[in-house]
Amino acid sequence: MPGPVVALRADMDALPVEEMTDLPFASQATGMRLGKSVPVMHACGHDTHTAMLLGAAKVLAEHRDHLRGTVVFLFQPAEEGAADVDEFQTDTLIGAQAMIRDGALDSPKVEAIFALHVMAGYPTGHLYYKAGTVLNSSDSFRIQLKGQQTHGSRPGAATIRLSPARASLPRCRPSSADASI
Ligand SMILES: [Zn+2]
Repeated sequence: MPGPVVALRADMDALPVEEMTDLPFASQATGMRLGKSVPVMHACGHDTHTAMLLGAAKVLAEHRDHLRGTVVFLFQPAEEGAADVDEFQTDTLIGAQAMIRDGALDSPKVEAIFALHVMAGYPTGHLYYKAGTVLNSSDSFRIQLKGQQTHGSRPGAATIRLSPARASLPRCRPSSADASI
């Protein structure tokens, strides 16, 4: 039926982390990261996100006659970064940016997106929500500091360039993974 176009989004990428649980379904997968074989697991919970979005797609498809509008299901790769992209290679679009570039939100034109993330430390059975952005993102950058080296017994003889570097990044500060919800 005609109506709004909304998208449900789940990230589905894994991390180069070895799952050291004794769970029967513990990941045995390996992958390649920057030319090296690495263990892989969904340490961030993205396997649950993928399963939830598949479940939502199944349920909504079964009830599509009752839906007014269109639901787009977005399975996003590379939320945590791309395995084959150096983290400092910032001119390569990955993840959501690559999906947007490739038209994932264009046909039909998505008007709103709903996403979620499981969160350890919050009570089971509770749903916390917030409009706009939630959690944080990470950006990589390189800083080259130049100064005068000295012996450890004479720290005052060294020149330290941390203050100018810090001053040039006024908006960079540690952020909490705890969203204000
Ligand atoms: Zn995540």
